[in-house]
Amino acid sequence: MAELYGGLDLGGTKIYTIVATAGGEVRGEFELPSEADRGLEHTLGHMVESMEEAAKRAGTSVAELAAIAVAAPGPIDFKAGVITAAPNLGWEKVPLRSLLKRAWHHEVLLENDANAAALGEYTYGAGRAFCDMVYVTVSTGIGGGFVFDGRIYRGASGAAGEVGHITVEPNGPRCFCGNRGCLEIMASGTALGRLGTEAVAAGHSEMLREICDDPADVKARDVAIAAARGDPVANEILDEAARYLGIGLGSLINLVNPEAIVVGGGASKIGDRLLDPAIAEAKRRSFPQSFGDCAIRFAELGERVGALGAIAVATGGRTPIASS
Ligand SMILES: [Zn+2]
Repeated sequence: MAELYGGLDLGGTKIYTIVATAGGEVRGEFELPSEADRGLEHTLGHMVESMEEAAKRAGTSVAELAAIAVAAPGPIDFKAGVITAAPNLGWEKVPLRSLLKRAWHHEVLLENDANAAALGEYTYGAGRAFCDMVYVTVSTGIGGGFVFDGRIYRGASGAAGEVGHITVEPNGPRCFCGNRGCLEIMASGTALGRLGTEAVAAGHSEMLREICDDPADVKARDVAIAAARGDPVANEILDEAARYLGIGLGSLINLVNPEAIVVGGGASKIGDRLLDPAIAEAKRRSFPQSFGDCAIRFAELGERVGALGAIAVATGGRTPIASS
């Protein structure tokens, strides 16, 4: 029987666990809510249970897994195996690696969720044909990860790949990180929703007001629907977000000269309507050779990206394909 690996994706709302072969063939999976408001012990209990159940469904046990990895919100102190801070879980300085090791009686690898997702797409998804890859996730926030020559690049503090906090508008709105005009505050799903809400409040879009459930809380999805139906204001909002996204992608292309950029996250559901103008903007702002050598693709692993990313971390990812 093939060796099996455990990968757990710890999110703000759910814990998604997969047991799979090194090739990424899923043999068992299980999902439980994170319910972080009920405290650390509760969430931890769900993590422990979800790996045990996924292993059982794969016809094995946690003890028999070849390796286990957990993708968790960062930043992470990798040496100590401690989650430094995870605001969406209300966690601060949680020694997750030792807590899980004690519960599972098994070694556990920890990785930042965006890094794990990057390695997942690199190993099993849209990045599998490339040697170097940048992963960009656009959802409520904007995150990213670098995989160079088959290895995650973490940086000096384990905080590399914070694509969402590139400044794209010097005098833009304040980001939660303290800076102004970060890519995340200008182009994330949250930003689309905020701009939509502002447009409805100002009476600029009748269609958007009709589409949304709550005029005080317009969603990115509402903006996308209104734009697709031809609403000029919603289209302007998408164009603006795409322009900022393109500024960010152009900077990444010049800085990293990657073989590929893989775009994932909820906003990738908006699809080409967001990505095409972003790519056009990136082209205007990057070296022609670097732009031409960079494939820009949508992510392929969908909801499983975090858990399959953790599997990739557990297996060590894949050997990079030598560029000929
Ligand atoms: Zn920021």
